[in-house]
Amino acid sequence: MYKEGPGEPSRLEDEYFYKKDRELIDKMKAAEQQKKEILERTQHYHKCSKCGHGMEERVRGEISLLCCHHCESVHLSLRTLESLAHHGRLKAVINDLQDHLSTLKESA
Ligand SMILES: [Zn+2]
Repeated sequence: MYKEGPGEPSRLEDEYFYKKDRELIDKMKAAEQQKKEILERTQHYHKCSKCGHGMEERVRGEISLLCCHHCESVHLSLRTLESLAHHGRLKAVINDLQDHLSTLKESA
């Protein structure tokens, strides 16, 4: 039977520390990945997906949407769109946005 000398780490000890190191490294990698994903999301927060310019949040009552002044793209949730269509207010919101954008262009 193999006998280890005094002060020499046993194979079981090596495996134990290897496993612990591996767990720590995996935890650090997962935390780093999570940080990276949050950073990527926040970099695009309120940015137009079409042209990359900033988007302005427009709130009218319970209706909230994002509007790009540069390319006139509008971002709204499906629930908001359904609500507007259901209550026949889609045209009113479009008119409001067109007025707002033309006011901005006139003042620029
Ligand atoms: Zn845009």
